[in-house]
Amino acid sequence: MRFGTKAIRAGQEPDPTTGAVVLPIYMASTYVQSQVGELKAGWEYARSGNPTRAGLERSIAALEDAQYGLAFASGMAAETAVSSLVRTGEHILATKDIYGGTFRLFRHLREKYGIESTYTDFTDLSRVEEAFTPNTRLVWIETPSNPTLVVLDIAAIAELAHRHNALLVVDNTFASPYLQNPLQLGADIVLHSTTKYIGGHSDLIGGAVVTNDAELYEKLYRYQNDFGSVPSPFDCWLTLRGIRTLHVRMEAHCRNAMAVAQFLESHPKIEWVRYPGLPSHPQHELARKQMRHGFSGMIAVGVKGGAKAAQRFCEGTKIFNLAESLGGAESLIGYPPKMSHASMSAEERAWCGIPDNMVRLSVGLEDVNDLVEDLQQALESV
Ligand SMILES: *Cc1c(COP(=O)(O)O)cnc(C)c1O
Repeated sequence: MRFGTKAIRAGQEPDPTTGAVVLPIYMASTYVQSQVGELKAGWEYARSGNPTRAGLERSIAALEDAQYGLAFASGMAAETAVSSLVRTGEHILATKDIYGGTFRLFRHLREKYGIESTYTDFTDLSRVEEAFTPNTRLVWIETPSNPTLVVLDIAAIAELAHRHNALLVVDNTFASPYLQNPLQLGADIVLHSTTKYIGGHSDLIGGAVVTNDAELYEKLYRYQNDFGSVPSPFDCWLTLRGIRTLHVRMEAHCRNAMAVAQFLESHPKIEWVRYPGLPSHPQHELARKQMRHGFSGMIAVGVKGGAKAAQRFCEGTKIFNLAESLGGAESLIGYPPKMSHASMSAEERAWCGIPDNMVRLSVGLEDVNDLVEDLQQALESV
């Protein structure tokens, strides 16, 4: 099956008991057994397994061309499960362009459990090579990254990780499975915040992990069940509803974002624009090679005039909502230094390439002419 068909059909077969064309929300916490220790239809207790969640897990696995999928209560719950593969004394090597919550999670693991983590610039593979330790267990990257929109060479990094006996984890949230399938490029584990493009409507919190490795799947399933970090059946159903239009939405996100990025690049009050679809992007050629259909809906810009000007820009839009998060139908604008990346020190932010004049845009699905006019009027008051 091709992507658009999988988005609508995989994991979303008509319900075998009733024929309902939409997978029902199974709210039962427990399932009747025919004899002691014998399950009637394979289901036992809803933390361990639920038919609505199982549909979602099959759907996301299919979209990532993966053997195994697991759904979690949030992107961070998915990250907690994946990082539980690492023991005290082992090491996580991460890109310095990383989601703020991941940065906080790794700090917690370091301080509380003695799990080492270091960050380096993954656009320079010789630095990555030097950053491995004999204990490196996981290599953890995002591409495109949040909020800097750096694009990393998944195939080359997978090769490097495997040479050092480490696993490559790719956070594929910004691209969505429609634009990129990291497992095909050599990644061992792919994770998503389904809160973003996969859910797509800013109405749920969720996460997912996919892999082709049966042993990793068994471990991650155990963590999902032991931590109890499962999504509710209702959230699984909402996520499946979002997935049915993922390919259609991503096409429109890409188209709108390209037009907005081109507009911003030509605006005199904008110092720089980072969008992987623009030839000015430092990894534009790699993005063209590695991604398909387009370059997603996220844009970062630097506003002339520094922090004050950037904050005025964020506060001056009327259609773009000033809010955290991304990937929904509605356009959002945010100021990473005081929002998503506020937990970093000024020095950490500078090192990670998050200057004080940075603004992040999640370009939604509204009419693009209205979006451009909105940004134009907001920039007039900057
Ligand atoms: C939002 C996000 C997360 C965390 O996901 P939650 O669903 O908010 O827990 C992880 N990685 C990236 C890239 C994100 O944007």
